[in-house]
Amino acid sequence: MTARILDGKALAAEVRAEVAQRVAALRARGLQPALAVILVGDNPASQTYVRHKGSDCESVGMRFVLDRFAADLPQAALLARIAQLNADPSIHGILVQLPLPKHIDPNLVIAAISPSKDADGFHVQSAGALMVGLPGFRPCTPYGCMRLLQAAGIAPRGRHAVVVGRSNIVGKPMALMLLQADATVTVCHSATPDLATFTRQADILVAAVGRRRTITADMVKPGAVVIDVGMNQDEAGRLCGDTDFAAVREVAGWITPVPGGVGPMTRAMLLVNTVEAAERSAR
Ligand code: NAP
Repeated sequence: MTARILDGKALAAEVRAEVAQRVAALRARGLQPALAVILVGDNPASQTYVRHKGSDCESVGMRFVLDRFAADLPQAALLARIAQLNADPSIHGILVQLPLPKHIDPNLVIAAISPSKDADGFHVQSAGALMVGLPGFRPCTPYGCMRLLQAAGIAPRGRHAVVVGRSNIVGKPMALMLLQADATVTVCHSATPDLATFTRQADILVAAVGRRRTITADMVKPGAVVIDVGMNQDEAGRLCGDTDFAAVREVAGWITPVPGGVGPMTRAMLLVNTVEAAERSAR
């Protein structure tokens, strides 16, 4: 059996079209949703991500405000800029591109963003809301994974979901969202002995590790749904995920490709969070 593809690129285009309609409705009322992004330093990957965020905003009619600072920006100056953006009613979403230079504490920076403008969903208030099942901004990557499942008609209810990775931005919120959707959830990490014992039990397997070929075909239950969050480089320098795609595809029931799976969905869900923030500000 060859797995069916969970096409994140196509679904992201649908999500952007929905967001564009919501933006148009707000603009008709005189409110243009705006996302402010702060980039500190000149990390090449961060520059690419920020450029994508700008073009995504433009494509749906949102305003994009980019603040670029040198890598030696004092932490206090960054916090002061966030306070200004918090107080600016024309800004609806605020995001500080990670990673930050070593002298800046990312937790302090995330905590400084107003929870009502937390487009990334990384604030502890957003994390707490997810934890107790209240509405709030969800981290874009796991939010996009849930949307991919929903669009394919894959209900987590009653299934065993295994999440490999426990970061605050992917693994943990992914596990909580699957739990919220009534899956039975196992979380694996670098101290998990014999990873394959767990992954082979997964009806839904999410790989969020950051190491290519972490998930090989023998680690996947036949027919499982495999969501590959990883973004790595293969031997030829091409983008690849955490799974051995060609081989896993012959075992799984569904699989996300890399590129074209989770990545485009992450970008699209940032737009969803931003338009949501703008709508809430208008209520
Ligand atoms: P991270 O903070 O480095 O977390 C990686 C997780 O993997 C950690 O929890 C770590 O365990 C676990 N891990 C490491 N080696 C392992 C092993 N051998 N077996 C089992 N677990 C292992 O990374 P992240 O931010 O969550 O991102 C994960 C990957 O997703 C990266 O490739 C990243 O680039 C990618 N990503 C993609 C998107 C997208 O839009 N597609 C978005 C975000 C991230 P410990 O906690 O024990 O260290």
